[in-house]
Amino acid sequence: MISVEEAQEKILSYIKILEQEEKPILECLGQVLAEDIYSTIDIPPLDNSAMDGYAVRSEDTRVASSSSPVILSVIGEIAAGSMPEPEKRVNPGTAIRIMTGAPLPGGANAIVPFEDTDETSRRASQDGLSQIAILCEAKKDSNVRHRGEDIVKEALILEKGEVLSPPEIGVLASLGHSTVQVIRRPIVSVLATGDELIDIDQPLPPGKIYNSNAYAIAAHILYYGGIPRIPGIGRDSVDALNSKIDEGLDSADLLITSGGVSLGDYDIVKEVLAKRGEVVFWTVRMKPGKPLTFGIIDRIEDGRVRGVPHLGLPGNPVSSMVTFEQFARPAILKMLGRKDLTKPSIQAVIQDDITNTDGRRIFTRVAVTKHGSQYYANLTGSQGSGILTSMVKANGLAIIPENVEGVKRGDIVQVQVLDWM
Ligand code: AMP
Ligand code: MG
Repeated sequence: MISVEEAQEKILSYIKILEQEEKPILECLGQVLAEDIYSTIDIPPLDNSAMDGYAVRSEDTRVASSSSPVILSVIGEIAAGSMPEPEKRVNPGTAIRIMTGAPLPGGANAIVPFEDTDETSRRASQDGLSQIAILCEAKKDSNVRHRGEDIVKEALILEKGEVLSPPEIGVLASLGHSTVQVIRRPIVSVLATGDELIDIDQPLPPGKIYNSNAYAIAAHILYYGGIPRIPGIGRDSVDALNSKIDEGLDSADLLITSGGVSLGDYDIVKEVLAKRGEVVFWTVRMKPGKPLTFGIIDRIEDGRVRGVPHLGLPGNPVSSMVTFEQFARPAILKMLGRKDLTKPSIQAVIQDDITNTDGRRIFTRVAVTKHGSQYYANLTGSQGSGILTSMVKANGLAIIPENVEGVKRGDIVQVQVLDWM
């Protein structure tokens, strides 16, 4: 039996970063940029107003106060999206009414917000806005946004290898990029195996259970940025399983199966894998998830052999999710070109005793809460690997190392945070 780390390393040694492709920016959330992005424009493109107010010459406002306002003649108005008329300059004694985002007119070097003028009372008294009283001094450049203050033309803005999160998508849009080069998303086929399984759109006959794993696994694939494919259910016979595996391998970058890797009479996934390629390892020193299997399936495509990585997760719903987090998650992230493959974890005070009798690394489902600066981890009820709802209640997996005989309430444990990508 190998350790969790050895298993992860073995898997990752067979996983390659995928090719790049050009896609609309909104489809690239969480993907890795495959090109450097230089700006072809200044942002903002022109000096403009940061407030609704009056564009003025700072010099004209120097002595303004609420008890002794400066009166300026209003010679025009500029809305965002329009350009000032070139002949309308702010000359001494004048002002132009201006909206947020509108370009600064010639001659002006400061914006006085409406709040610092008598605009409201002037409107109420129907005096009209041919003049405006300035109630305080506007220093040069106040409320002026300068051309290129955010992004300068020709600067390197985003670098190859960066992950596209919402702000990066926004920056790409601000530069006028409708598409971008990214490392493509992996296509991951999910084949649940077992004669007891039935599709979720069918009535439930006696002795059968719904195929929940395929959906839980596919949801995890989506969550981490892959494209899931569900070719149906693999039955517990060699021929039936082989034909479903063929369907599953079609254009897949990774095949994930659930079930059929233990020592039962009908656990044939490993046997089929061994005949079709190479079993890299079977069994990992962990709980749940011990029978985890990894191998490479040879597939003939256009006369050439393509090796498709196959991760055989155990069938118990909790085991399949816990092993997914430890092994499928880093594989998917690596294919996406992501660099940091470590699941985020915290230190928490465990609230229950946990014993470790057989030297495996235990992943227990816990609900983590924070009181002050301290995290606390409470077991989410029964830890049987078939208790799917214990996973729903959990937001973390507390890790009990293989080399300890257990932990006591009050001990500090490491907890993987399931909610953190
Ligand atoms: P196995 O690893 O094939 O022996 O499966 C272990 C147990 O996990 C089975 O007895 C089922 O109760 C459960 N199981 C297996 N596959 C699924 C699945 N796709 N969806 C829900 N439960 C499953
Ligand atoms: Mg089975």
